[in-house]
Amino acid sequence: MSEKKKKRITIKVGTRVLTDKSNRIDQRIIKSLADQVSDLMDDGIEVIIVTSGAIGAGLGLLTLQKKGRSLSEMQAIASIGQNHLMDIYNRYFNKRGYNTGQILLTQEDFSNRRRFLNIRYTLNTLLKYRAVPIINENDSVSTEEIKCGDNDRLSSLVADLADSDMLIILTDVEGLLDSEGRVIPVVESVTGSIKSFCRGKGCEESTGGMTTKLEAVKNATQAGVQSVIASGRKNNIIVDIVRGKKTGTSFRAQKKTLKARKRWIAFGSKTKGSIVVDTGAETALVVKKKSLLPSGVVGVKGKFTDGDVVDILGEGKKGIIAKGLSNYSSEEIEAIKGKKSSEIESELGYKDYDEVVHRDNLVIIEG
Ligand code: GLU
Repeated sequence: MSEKKKKRITIKVGTRVLTDKSNRIDQRIIKSLADQVSDLMDDGIEVIIVTSGAIGAGLGLLTLQKKGRSLSEMQAIASIGQNHLMDIYNRYFNKRGYNTGQILLTQEDFSNRRRFLNIRYTLNTLLKYRAVPIINENDSVSTEEIKCGDNDRLSSLVADLADSDMLIILTDVEGLLDSEGRVIPVVESVTGSIKSFCRGKGCEESTGGMTTKLEAVKNATQAGVQSVIASGRKNNIIVDIVRGKKTGTSFRAQKKTLKARKRWIAFGSKTKGSIVVDTGAETALVVKKKSLLPSGVVGVKGKFTDGDVVDILGEGKKGIIAKGLSNYSSEEIEAIKGKKSSEIESELGYKDYDEVVHRDNLVIIEG
């Protein structure tokens, strides 16, 4: 690989890599991961781990099956499994002289800009202490509404937030396979045709399938992070990838076209509602690169407050045309929609901004 020396790497480890058939954590795998990461750290490379396996490990310890479990049962199971998982990681890293630091996150931590920036400070500080940040979704409090989605997505958000040079997604397949079942060594950019390769094993839509991995890789590469999907059960895989050996599927980093703040709007945050705009406003946003003014708004969906990220929808059109940070709440926009900016004050009794969404806080989503 290495055109440039990699300094900071985010590694995502999937449940299927970590557990055996009876959902027991395979300690040899964690030992091998810890040894490989420690070897890299001995060379001055910083590593962040995003690990799955809490629910799997919890089920294994309690000898339970996943099917038919309630949300509170799954949350309790994850809590037991997470402890066990961290215990094993910590033990093997300690043997190599490194500390670990656990960070459990939900989508809220990404959607709230201040919390998002806090995660970055904490990660940087852990790395400064030469500790290994080990991140998972906070499954014990996560419900559908506040979930990050899946750990593939979580790892791409972390890789971007931490300004990683590389994201390695370790799974139980060798990489992205073509229609003949051969590993595709290099992907220039994640397009629809690449996604169509996703067939057979590991391609299911559910958590952990290749579809979520390709979405994650798309986000990461657009954020300028080179990404690799490879088998986590292959001997010395992490070290091999970092040292430039061709293994798994490597996805080229794209030129960063969006600034960090805009990437956070586009990929990191979850939208709370939507603003529907007329065709004139759509042209102003997409073609003329203008801000969204109240005059172009025809409707509001959902409830949100000022400072929330919202979808911007075209009137009578399918799909999202943009995402942006709203200057006004859904109620306020309901009151000022279709009005001129000069009328905002008389409608609301105050005016904080002329724009509903300022250009600087707006990202056009390509269809
Ligand atoms: N957070 C889940 C766990 O640790 C895994 C979710 C995922 O792999 O996408 O069990």
